[in-house]
Amino acid sequence: MTLWLLGDQLHLPTVLELDLEHVLLIEASAVGQRRRYHPQKLILVLSAMRHFAEELRAHDIRVSYLQASTFEAGLREYATAAGTPEIVGFEHPSAGIDATRRSVVDAVGGSIELITSPLYLSTRAQFDAWAGPHETDRRYRQEQWYRHIRTETGILMDGTDPVGGSWNYDSQNRETPPADWTPPVAPRYPPDALTEAVAEELQHEYPQTWGAAAPFGWPVTRTDALDALDQFIAQRLPEFGRYQDAMVDEEWALAHSLLSMSINIGLLHPREAVDRAVAAFEADAAPINAVEGFVRQLVGWREFMRHVYRRAMPQLATANQLEQQRSLPPVYWDGDTDMRCLEQTVRHVYDRGYAHHIERLMVLSNFAMLYGAEPAAVNEWFHLGFVDAYHWVTTPNVIGMGSFGTDVLSSKPYAASANYISKMSDHCGQCQFDPTATTGADACPFNALYWNFLDEHEEQLRATGRMGLMYSHVDRKSEEEWEAIRERAEDVRQKIAAGEL
Ligand code: FAD
Repeated sequence: MTLWLLGDQLHLPTVLELDLEHVLLIEASAVGQRRRYHPQKLILVLSAMRHFAEELRAHDIRVSYLQASTFEAGLREYATAAGTPEIVGFEHPSAGIDATRRSVVDAVGGSIELITSPLYLSTRAQFDAWAGPHETDRRYRQEQWYRHIRTETGILMDGTDPVGGSWNYDSQNRETPPADWTPPVAPRYPPDALTEAVAEELQHEYPQTWGAAAPFGWPVTRTDALDALDQFIAQRLPEFGRYQDAMVDEEWALAHSLLSMSINIGLLHPREAVDRAVAAFEADAAPINAVEGFVRQLVGWREFMRHVYRRAMPQLATANQLEQQRSLPPVYWDGDTDMRCLEQTVRHVYDRGYAHHIERLMVLSNFAMLYGAEPAAVNEWFHLGFVDAYHWVTTPNVIGMGSFGTDVLSSKPYAASANYISKMSDHCGQCQFDPTATTGADACPFNALYWNFLDEHEEQLRATGRMGLMYSHVDRKSEEEWEAIRERAEDVRQKIAAGEL
């Protein structure tokens, strides 16, 4: 049996435990050429695959490492050298990948068995047993799943009670740092010769990319990913909770873990990150609000998104309940805008293929939603632009959470005006627009778009029953105010579409 691993299944201890003699890795250039991926995403995955092959060989595992145009071409080459393939593989969370693997193995006359992926914290069967029958109108709520899975796994549990007495410490996690706060230095792993060679090849093999290829500093080996985890636990975790929702001008990382790109390709198992965080709490090295907040992201949100995606596809990918049809405006590609928060955030993505959660949710997707961009177009941009993006994780986050294209996983849109950005960041102090004004040329564009969004989608949003406070403000506005809001929103949309704002 040969274990065929994909480029996001590179967890060394799991492979060593399976005790198989032969591992197959195929670099299929067609996969990386499907969209204008961020060059750092391509460098990350290709370099990590090549390093992984070296590590396996160092453990005396036979590795077939093939570079081919497609998986099928790679598998044919493998079959020519090694005979009819008898493959075992891990189930993949992204739609279509398992079917593709089965069909290419079929095409070369081999056999394939796909087993439950050991790379996650929960299994499909576990989620399905909790969620019940797979009905098309089923809605899922993360908080319920999170409590269930904590109880089932015993993570941060004190018998049947949550450690500390509360499931959730979010109320302590909404601070913004003082002006003299210095964030911990984000770890950087300068490219070695192998990574440099990948970066060089990229220019010929993958000329159609979006984003800066250098400087590249993400971990591409398990050793470096473990070091990044160590550094997070020691230096960033204690403040992770309190500044989790904050944004700071000219600061891209704050106290976030910067681990998604490593976890999503298997350099780290999510359980390793969770266990280390819990151990820090038990050693009094990090407070409960930080540790619970971090655990919730991985045990709650990440697992939840993966399972809901599986059950809500294929409809999820094109869900568009608000019927938003605009194309993504040019600012998402060139970052050229006077809106300080948007300019900074797009630059973060362009420079590193990374922005932290609140930038993704409350700036990038909030703005796209208020502007009226089509959720699938926003999803496509996130998918190509981020180093941690894979269809299974980007799609529920962007279409469900960020665009409210469906209510399958959240009951109301994450829509906010400049008030939120002004409260949670210091961008507005550096911006030419006034966050307190709604109309007029100096008014922050978020504001008119926000009210106009509530107005345009009133029928659906008011009916959610969770927007009462927002609609109480809507109800207080006069007809003259609405007229000015509509005019300003229209002006903003035209200028944004033309790249003039
Ligand atoms: P931290 O803030 O330190 O969080 C810790 C870990 O929790 C992350 O590393 C990640 O593995 C996990 N996590 C937290 N929230 C989520 C979530 N909602 N879904 C899945 N995992 C989560 N995450 C991706 O991994 N890939 C994506 O393509 C992606 N796209 C997103 C798009 C939008 C619009 C939004 C709102 C969120 C998206 N997320 C995505 C989730 C989250 O923003 C990132 O996982 C996180 O910002 C990664 O940075 P970090 O490692 O510093 O995370």
